[in-house]
Amino acid sequence: MAQPEIHQFPCLKDNYGVLVHDAEEGVTLSIDAPDAGAVKRALDERGWTLTHILVTHHHADHTAGIPALKSETQCTVIGPSAESVRIPGLDAGVAEPCSLHLGSLEAKVLDTPGHTMGHIAYWIPAAGVAFVGDTLFAMGCGRVLEGTAEMMWASLQKIAALPPETHLYCGHEYTVSNGKFGATIEPGNARLAERLAEAEAARRDGRPTLPTRVDLEHETNVFLRAATPAIRAHVNLPDGPDWKVFAALRERKNRF
Ligand code: ZN
Ligand code: FE
Repeated sequence: MAQPEIHQFPCLKDNYGVLVHDAEEGVTLSIDAPDAGAVKRALDERGWTLTHILVTHHHADHTAGIPALKSETQCTVIGPSAESVRIPGLDAGVAEPCSLHLGSLEAKVLDTPGHTMGHIAYWIPAAGVAFVGDTLFAMGCGRVLEGTAEMMWASLQKIAALPPETHLYCGHEYTVSNGKFGATIEPGNARLAERLAEAEAARRDGRPTLPTRVDLEHETNVFLRAATPAIRAHVNLPDGPDWKVFAALRERKNRF
């Protein structure tokens, strides 16, 4: 398989759209559809024809563009079967363990509930990329809106267990705010402080801070670092399961 071309572009307030293009087979995927106009412009700039939309979860900032894109391109819309009634125009509902064969690309579906109950991620092992929606963000994670903290922790662990060099594409540009929060939780983490400074510089120049990488997240994402003694001490939970530490961190971030 030739490596697919991947194009990430900002849209709406702080969302990212992503296109994945397999030139050999003429397949182009849109990861979510935050805004039909922005996705169309990105396709037109490259001369790519949309064939599929891969939806991570039902929220409007990930699905609002589906109807217009589908009526214009007759693309196939794939998304979480658990949210099929909430996603407009869904053609195929999928769940783990499902492998999608799209042109020469093979995408594995991962169940990553927590932000929403049916949230899924898409992992293309041969390309070393995963599209994780609103489950993990650079140095952060999504709000636990429908599931439980324990569920969200398990979903984050699943993403953290992907090969370390895997590039992670996330739904939003929240890196600076996440890094500022992380620095209050783990002030002694030099790599985190350095990454926050890099992210601030990137945003000042209007550059994206994404995609991130699994290994970078292990070093700098306090939500994945719940087992770290300094973090446990910081939230007064020296013992007990990691997910409870995660839950305490998520609570604090909600109020940050
Ligand atoms: Zn969302
Ligand atoms: Fe979102």
